[in-house]
Amino acid sequence: MIRIRHEDCIMCGTCTMVCPVKALGLTASRIEHYPEKCVDCAQCVNNCPVKVITLYKGVKSEKDLPGSR
Ligand code: SF4
Ligand code: SF4
Repeated sequence: MIRIRHEDCIMCGTCTMVCPVKALGLTASRIEHYPEKCVDCAQCVNNCPVKVITLYKGVKSEKDLPGSR
């Protein structure tokens, strides 16, 4: 799964377009990520113009992200 630094996201929508499995969605207020769909391909990471996405390979849930417990 990925983590997005939402405060620095410019809501360009690029990540939602390049994701091959629709694991990212553009809502009115922010980008939503659906970890259960993510295949860790890093397309979103590589195409984000402001580099606010970090990939955590193999992590499948929010609670397993570094720094969350
Ligand atoms: S890593 Fe790949 S599958 Fe996961 S959200 Fe980004 S583009 Fe989609
Ligand atoms: S590509 Fe980056 S800046 Fe654009 S919407 Fe996605 S996270 Fe935000």
